[in-house]
Amino acid sequence: MRYSESLIPTLRETPSDAEVTSHQLMLRAGYIRKVAAGIYNYLPLGFKVLKKVENIIREEMEAAGAQEMLMPMVVPSELWEKSGRWDFYGKELLRIKDRHGRDFCLGPTHEEVITELTGTEIRSYRELPINLFQIQTKFRDEVRPRFGLMRGREFVMKDAYSFHATEEDAEREYRKMYDTYKRIFERCGLKFRAVEADSGSIGGSFSHEFVVLAESGEDAVASCDICDYAANIEKAISKSKRNLPDKKEAALPLEKIETPGKKSIEEVAAFMGVKGEHLVKTLVYLADGKPLIALIRGDYELNEIKLKNVTACNELELAGPETVIKITGAPTGFAGPAGLNNIDIYADHTVEVMSNFICGANEKDLHLKNVNLDRDFEVTAFHDLSTVTCGDECPRCEGKLEIHRGIEVGHIFKLGTKYSEAMGATFLDAEGNEKPMVMACYGIGVGRTGAAAIEQNNDEVGIIWPMPLAPYQVIVTIVNTKDDEVRTTAESIYESLKEKGIEAILDDRDERPGVKFKDADLIGIPVRITVGGRGIKEGKLEVKHREEKEAANIEINKVVEEVIKMVRAYF
Ligand code: ATP
Ligand code: MG
Repeated sequence: MRYSESLIPTLRETPSDAEVTSHQLMLRAGYIRKVAAGIYNYLPLGFKVLKKVENIIREEMEAAGAQEMLMPMVVPSELWEKSGRWDFYGKELLRIKDRHGRDFCLGPTHEEVITELTGTEIRSYRELPINLFQIQTKFRDEVRPRFGLMRGREFVMKDAYSFHATEEDAEREYRKMYDTYKRIFERCGLKFRAVEADSGSIGGSFSHEFVVLAESGEDAVASCDICDYAANIEKAISKSKRNLPDKKEAALPLEKIETPGKKSIEEVAAFMGVKGEHLVKTLVYLADGKPLIALIRGDYELNEIKLKNVTACNELELAGPETVIKITGAPTGFAGPAGLNNIDIYADHTVEVMSNFICGANEKDLHLKNVNLDRDFEVTAFHDLSTVTCGDECPRCEGKLEIHRGIEVGHIFKLGTKYSEAMGATFLDAEGNEKPMVMACYGIGVGRTGAAAIEQNNDEVGIIWPMPLAPYQVIVTIVNTKDDEVRTTAESIYESLKEKGIEAILDDRDERPGVKFKDADLIGIPVRITVGGRGIKEGKLEVKHREEKEAANIEINKVVEEVIKMVRAYF
């Protein structure tokens, strides 16, 4: 490609509405442009990166025996009603009507469409297993679209669905996809971890996320410093919080303490001169609109995902001030379990081993001291409801947990028969019995993977593409386009590279060399060949790796050969 003929609108200034590095650089380097919140144009460079990621995914999925197909983006409501998700998916599902007033949605994921298809087309165990995938535009009306391609509303996803006669066979394929995903992200040149994950609204019995490690990530991952235990913080467990030593003491008489204006755990603990571990945090939640109480030791954080799973609700939200007054009789900050009847109380295991603790008195400006389980209140059920923290004990070994931030780029789920049962996707087994197919599904955010690669590979002047994802592998920079010899040398190097299958861009613009170098660094092309008058006179050209500080001087007639070697080293 000739730079002079391409659309690469680079910007000198960092756009003010871009918070994370990848978003800033994709805008500055002319990869994407915003059309509306979470909706983007992929300019030629951005489009090339998207295709690079897609092709790696496609090659690995096909090598693993999956077949590519394409499903529609616009999906009739009937399919979503059949699975039961039309009423439950919530506002992320963009619903539309056609000219006849019939309901449709823009597909945010395609379990419904694929299950309807296989349920109709597959009849016998002989046609199983099958793994079908597509690379397609999804729409999710995210509450907070942000960070560019990282959390868009319209985005490209690879989604795959496999169908099996037995649970064991689904698990075999799940493990195969797990390995395939590892290869995909390795080939993308990313540093990532495969972690145990919560299976969320899609449901199912187990799932893993592939998380690219980056400070700007929206996810947090807990991993053991000794063994290979790693889990999303939404799901991570620790030994210490499940097995706290039982420090139960004899119950002391209940006391009411005035705590004017002291609401938070920190305020009350400081006011009473104790540590947070002597307090119990009492939280009022609405689970599908029904109030409940959650208890946890004062110095720990409640994990809402765990609470949501325990209560098996669709929507869980912290109750507002009005509900808190209605349930506890006091404003937020003074709630406690003692005296609260006719409401479910879920407590974290940490509370099970506490005695004589402090909590709200359900009266404004008052707290209770020496509160005890059984004597003063009862709990509906104890569960692990706490969020692990750095230094907690690994649940599997003697190691300690570390917490890292990361970006979820892929997610695999074993779905079981949730969708096949709901939608009647059955087959006949060898004995002629009709059974629901066992399913698993596998997603990758294509644009998010590209953005995550930038988060991991950049410096103060721009992107540093891993070779496999770079829109062009080599940039040939003409220092002075007015000099005929310089121009023809550059043109011939550029043509030879292209002939050998190297993806090259020729910077033939009538610009100052400084501008060209800046742009080449900003857009992040891995190898730059600089063709200038001085180099030609000396018989050597400067060849520079984007990630290295120093350039090498290579004899003109060896440049093409050397650069081809540099590029091929990555494949
Ligand atoms: P998240 O927790 O980040 O919202 P999710 O659990 O909703 O992700 P899945 O339904 O598993 O995501 O979708 C599969 C993959 O699609 C994700 O692993 C992610 O890479 C990508 N993805 C999901 N939502 C978005 C989005 N809004 N923008 C870009 N990519 C997305
Ligand atoms: Mg989501």
